[in-house]
Amino acid sequence: MNILVINCGSSSLKYQLIDMDGENVLAKGLVERIGIEGSIIKHDTTGKERVTIEEPMDDHKRALELVLQVIVDKDHGAINSMEEIGAVGHRVVHGGEEFASSVLITDEVMGALERCIELAPLHNPPNIMGIEACKELMPNTPMVGVFDTAFHQSIPAENYIYPLPYEFYEKYKIRKYGFHGTSHKYVANRAAEILGRDIKDLNIVTCHLGNGSSVTAVQGGKSIDTSMGFTPLEGLAMGTRSGDIDPAIIPFIMDKEGMNFEEVNNVLNKKSGVLGISGVSSDFRDLEVAASEGNERAQLALDVFCNRVTKYIAAYAAQMCRIDALVFTAGIGENSGFIREKVCEGLECLNIIIDKELNDIRGEERILSKNLGGPTILVIPTNEELMIARDTLSLV
Ligand code: ADP
Repeated sequence: MNILVINCGSSSLKYQLIDMDGENVLAKGLVERIGIEGSIIKHDTTGKERVTIEEPMDDHKRALELVLQVIVDKDHGAINSMEEIGAVGHRVVHGGEEFASSVLITDEVMGALERCIELAPLHNPPNIMGIEACKELMPNTPMVGVFDTAFHQSIPAENYIYPLPYEFYEKYKIRKYGFHGTSHKYVANRAAEILGRDIKDLNIVTCHLGNGSSVTAVQGGKSIDTSMGFTPLEGLAMGTRSGDIDPAIIPFIMDKEGMNFEEVNNVLNKKSGVLGISGVSSDFRDLEVAASEGNERAQLALDVFCNRVTKYIAAYAAQMCRIDALVFTAGIGENSGFIREKVCEGLECLNIIIDKELNDIRGEERILSKNLGGPTILVIPTNEELMIARDTLSLV
């Protein structure tokens, strides 16, 4: 069966068409600037030249219409007709407490998705728009929702309850949810496969380090703690997000800088993290170059970032009593040997020892530690689309 995987952002749409018989990607692409001037689709069918389509796309439905056209195009396409798409898998950011696993989308599920909007007002509406556009264009094709939060629904209460008045949880569902769940689940399972062990017997710490970053403790295949929280702002220092800070800083800077809630929220999400510290960039490639040229604030930003990752890994090792594997994934985790080495520098006390020669790679699966009896360190490129397609297949 061919499965179309859709990931809708507010003005973007990423897609992949996967043939599940051999788990091969038949086509993939990215639509940008939906609803704004300069809408564009960059489409790649495996084994064919890239196609670029530039024409107005007022909404996600129009974008998807054009995507479906190019997928079945006789020159540039990957399949002959839409009938060859057996199901659609949608990435949905927030499933709240309603969804602990992927679901077949029904009217009832749509209602639950609407209820989750208040927990992710920026992310869930475009996800829902994508589902609605698909329902209109492919009314007879089954669809599945796969949630970033679902994998973390196994986190026990002592790790998801904030030390706030308990009625905030009861009234508003304020608790840790965690994100990047599809990625953490994929790499944890892949690590078990690579090690040739049953995931039920393993304690794994997974580090998804990209524009947004999070670390997860995976015990026996289940997430038991993760660094992101009620929103993706908690935890590690990220490209532009602050991660953990003393909450008292918020009223303090609001007072000193005369900011309102929206402005302070913008600072914490868009102007903080390694960009805020360095004043150089949110991109780790730029930071590594600047630091090597002697830029002290770029170096400081990298140090702060790595220290936080190290601390979370150590904390999760302590929570699980031991760790068997440490996995790096996503843009930074897959590509930056420098960051991986620096993160592991503080972890020798846990017998986590990275091999510098093995660590000299980017973007491919590899074990980075010698067999010295300590935890195995791995790089595993994430594959959220494949995970979404697998869940979709199993539900339809
Ligand atoms: P997203 O969270 O948007 O999916 P990615 O996982 O693609 O992000 O990660 C993007 C980040 O990965 C970039 O901002 C950049 O900092 C980092 N990155 C990509 N390649 C490298 C590299 N070769 N060295 C260091 N960092 C890299």
